[in-house]
Amino acid sequence: MHHFDRIDGALHAEAAPLEAIAGAVGTPLYVYSTATLTRHYGLFREAVEAHRAALGEALIAFAVKANSNLSVLATLARLGCGADTVSEGEIRRALKAGVPGRRIVFSGVGKTDAELAFAIDAGVRQINVESAVELDRLIAVAASKGAAPEIAVRVNPKIGAGGHAKITTGGATDKFGVPAEEAPALYARAAASPHVTPVGLACHIGSQITTLEPLEGAFRALRQMTLALRVEGLAVSRLDLGGGLGVPYHGQTDLPSIEAYVGMAARVLEGLEVEAAFEPGRLLAANAGVLLSRVVQVNARSDGRRFLVLDAGMNDLMRPALYDAFHDVVAVCERAGDTGPYDLVGPICESTDVFARERVLPPLEAGDLVAFMGAGAYGAVLASEYNSRPLVPEVLVDGDRWAVVRSRPTYDEMWAREPAAGWLG
Ligand SMILES: *Cc1c(COP(=O)(O)O)cnc(C)c1O
Repeated sequence: MHHFDRIDGALHAEAAPLEAIAGAVGTPLYVYSTATLTRHYGLFREAVEAHRAALGEALIAFAVKANSNLSVLATLARLGCGADTVSEGEIRRALKAGVPGRRIVFSGVGKTDAELAFAIDAGVRQINVESAVELDRLIAVAASKGAAPEIAVRVNPKIGAGGHAKITTGGATDKFGVPAEEAPALYARAAASPHVTPVGLACHIGSQITTLEPLEGAFRALRQMTLALRVEGLAVSRLDLGGGLGVPYHGQTDLPSIEAYVGMAARVLEGLEVEAAFEPGRLLAANAGVLLSRVVQVNARSDGRRFLVLDAGMNDLMRPALYDAFHDVVAVCERAGDTGPYDLVGPICESTDVFARERVLPPLEAGDLVAFMGAGAYGAVLASEYNSRPLVPEVLVDGDRWAVVRSRPTYDEMWAREPAAGWLG
């Protein structure tokens, strides 16, 4: 669910008219809804609290990579949300947005020694170790500081899932996590070191997962491993269940609810007496954002194909080009009349710069505004300045007020990042 609705025919973000925001800021731009972020986090928090007996003082840590805008993070941080991070930059963003270190989890397959040191100094809640070689490096870094950070071992349960092969992370050939058969020995090795404190296990098997079965399989694998480790006398007090639950990009109504998902987790963890952690990214942010773009021209060919050429390109919204993602596209002010199939394309000089084929939309003309729905996660964060297009700006709405929370750089600001080599002066 989201808070982008029509008022007198014109699409609004909460009580703010999108046409007015686009007029003031220029297009393309992203617009986020505070009410949607708040509602999604609230539903998650309620579900977790309803299952406190099984899940303990569960942490909900927003996966920062889904939408790392500082105002979005600050909105969630004020509600008590934590952060799942995958780089020093993301830890810095989370801290700057007001997420306390004790609610920050540090994940990722390729953390450098410098990043591990930074995370230890920042006092993050937990470092999720993804390989044996990383454990060795972490032990060395922690030893040099006289520290003993709390860690979880990220297990690869050989259950890959997700909306596309390119967003699956838990399969046997995926680069993420420690193979399940190696994880217990690694955990024991960590427990034997005075320089790390293993507290639990983690998993994250993929993204845009639309059924509970693969997630339940992965959670059960963590449960089994917890019991096996305890038989060896090893303490396991936290299970980090990752993120990955999908959202209805196609308007599907059969996706698992947050309540069903958390309820399933509670049933699997029942009686284990662990503290759970969840790392939702897409689920909190996707439907909280839209990408607004204007029609540059309608290019009607003699063969009947009609290209709706937009001023947003794959550099602004990469998901369709990157993994064939579907976004619902709607006219911000709907005109009556014939609808016709359009191919929605951007201006970028790449054949993959196509957002959708043969989409039925109301009649559109140059200058009309369209909204890509469900663009709040993995949208602006993946944007680039390819084709020397200024980085797409972001706006946050709260009720009838709105603010530019990332501005579009001027061309001079873009050039200033590229000082001329001295010999070209
Ligand atoms: C990307 C990621 C998430 C969030 O995934 P969503 O599908 O957006 O919920 C959670 N945990 C880890 C470790 C991730 O890499």
